[in-house]
Formats: sequence, structure tokens, C-alpha cells
Amino acid sequence: MKEIALQVLVEQISLKYFNKHFEHQATFNRRLRTTGGRYHLNTHNLDFNPKVFESFDEEVLEGIIKHELCHYHLHIEGRGYRHGDRDFKELMDQVGALRFTPSLEVEEEYLLRWEYECSGCQNKFYRKRRFNLKKFVCHSCKNKFILNGRKRLKNMAY
Ligand SMILES: [Zn+2]
Ligand SMILES: [Zn+2]
Repeated sequence: MKEIALQVLVEQISLKYFNKHFEHQATFNRRLRTTGGRYHLNTHNLDFNPKVFESFDEEVLEGIIKHELCHYHLHIEGRGYRHGDRDFKELMDQVGALRFTPSLEVEEEYLLRWEYECSGCQNKFYRKRRFNLKKFVCHSCKNKFILNGRKRLKNMAY
């Protein structure tokens, strides 16, 4: 998504759900890591994490934009804009904002793989697809493999 499209989207969501104009800048910030967005108290501008915009669908994006707009509008109006404030919680519920950004870590770092184990030397290895246990034997000890099931793995060098 281009920055100009982001700006337009934030303005649209502000009008549609808050019935108020967003009159500052919405930009992407690559340095945001696990948060979806950030509201700047001094400039009133909003930053969004471009990775979030690549990883999630429109509903999630809207929820994140609404969350930041809750901070924005409440702060500008001098109301309770912090996460713990009653004003903030009520407005979040009203507009259907997301409380937290869905974790990027989990989305990106885990893979589902079939775990196989050699019945002889007990070496383990992982495959995306299943294979026929009768057709293959272990390279090092010539024994058969056992299928242990499907595992969630950290996304490393498997
Ligand atoms: Zn927040
Ligand atoms: Zn073996």
C-alpha cells in the first residue's frame, strides 16, 4: 500500500466511524516492530507498521487504524486517551477497534511440519509433505522411519 492510500484510508475510517475529520499525517514507519501503529502526542500524526499491512486482511487493518484514531480524537478533545482510561475503552467498543495488534511473531515464525524419526538411530527430521514409510530407509543406519505427527516449528533451517 502506498502512503497516499494509507492517508486516504485513515481519513475515510475517521469520517465513517468517528464522524470526525482526521487532519494530520498518517505515514508508514519501518522501525515499528511488534506494534501495528503509534499516535504521536506532540505532532498528532500517526505511524503504521508496513509489515502489518502486508500480513493481515482489511478487517484487521481497520481495527488497528480505529485503535490509533481513538487515541487521536480523545487526545485532541482533551478526554481520556490512554489505554486504561474509561473514555478510551468505551470509544474502542463503540467503533470496534482492536485492543492489540495480532502478533506478527506467531504469523511469521512458525511452520507446520511432519516429524519423522528413524527407528534405529533416532535421528529426527521434518518434511512439508508426508511420504510413504515403506519406500525409504535411513541413510546412516538403514532402519525404517516412524511418523511422529505434525509439529509447530520455529521457522529456522528445516
Ligand atoms: Zn494504543
Ligand atoms: Zn537411522
